[in-house]
Amino acid sequence: MGWLRHLRWKLVVSHLLIILIGVVVLLPTAHFLAEIQLPQDVSLTLGSAASEAGQLDPTTAPTQPASATQIERFQIVVDQALLISAFAALAAAIVVSLFVSRRIVEPLQELSSVSRRLAQGYYRERTSIRSDDELADLSQSINQLAVALEQTEQRRLALLADVTHELRTPLTTIEGYMEGLIDGVIAPEPQIFAMIQHEAVRLKWLTEELVLLSRAEAGQLRITAQPTDLLTLVEHSAAQFQPQFAAQEIQLELRMPPELPEVLADPNRLEQILINLLSNALRYTPAGGHVTITAEPYDFFVQIAVRDSGIGIAAEHIPHIFERFYRVDKSRARKSGGTGIGLTIARHLVYAQGGEIWVESPGLGHGATFYVTLPVYAAVAAGV
Ligand code: ADP
Repeated sequence: MGWLRHLRWKLVVSHLLIILIGVVVLLPTAHFLAEIQLPQDVSLTLGSAASEAGQLDPTTAPTQPASATQIERFQIVVDQALLISAFAALAAAIVVSLFVSRRIVEPLQELSSVSRRLAQGYYRERTSIRSDDELADLSQSINQLAVALEQTEQRRLALLADVTHELRTPLTTIEGYMEGLIDGVIAPEPQIFAMIQHEAVRLKWLTEELVLLSRAEAGQLRITAQPTDLLTLVEHSAAQFQPQFAAQEIQLELRMPPELPEVLADPNRLEQILINLLSNALRYTPAGGHVTITAEPYDFFVQIAVRDSGIGIAAEHIPHIFERFYRVDKSRARKSGGTGIGLTIARHLVYAQGGEIWVESPGLGHGATFYVTLPVYAAVAAGV
């Protein structure tokens, strides 16, 4: 009975069963009704047949009772007719069912073969079912899944290439210096050790960022939200950057109202976000520019804005800026130490704290403003 495991034969058998049940119900019902109804009807028929033949006066002729043999013969004829019809119906059902089940099973077979290929890693596979039923919906969902898998795979490969490149650069530098030192080609001077240390620090920072990114993407970021005074936190983060801004002749300005409501946030994570936005502002603003941090309450949120007068972002890049490893200008970003991870982590961190993050830029050369919203503590506590 292995063949019964196939959907096609299950459909055929189920269609036949329906016909069989119909026959099984129909036969005894017809038989039973015939038994009650026939003696009377056959008598009438016989009576009227005799009168039509002129043997009897139709007004006065008594109804001739049908004999038992006549009724029996009639019932046999009815049963035979029903049986022949049942066989004809079964034969027709087999043909129709084979056709119908093929139309159902074939798309399913295609769907299952495509899913199997997808599971084997062939993410370019697509189904081509064109109908307007649930199978077409399923086919569309499988195709969407395939597109998502293909994109994820492409991102994974790109990630691997990026991570390898980012790790290899400082490692190669360290290796080169060490070899030079061992061979005596490079003099062991303090600035050489400082350079090696700089690369080692960069390597450490990069691995930490990657760990953070993978945790963020796995939804495993630990967030300890608490009532947080934004002004103190922003002042603290800005103070850390002040010397670097001054060194690059960029003016860093804070425009924060003193009466800001407390936000519900993880101070360490929030500082991490601010540091990312400030280091980007520093990186992408030329000397002589200015960067302003503002904050204002907005409904049940506080909206922080980091505005710079830097190189700006072209409209086509804005939707991708928060994507992992996305850099507008890869060569320039690498030169300036960017990896394209910072904003991805920042976005995860903001979302994990119930906020929003986005960027606006009037275009290349016109600066950029990064906005972060965080929920007001009092509003969350009041259950708003
Ligand atoms: P990176 O380490 O490369 O700066 P991010 O994720 O922080 O990575 O930023 C992604 C990309 O967004 C950057 O490579 C840069 O092209 C663009 N970007 C980020 N901040 C700014 C800014 N303030 N002005 C212009 N472009 C920016």
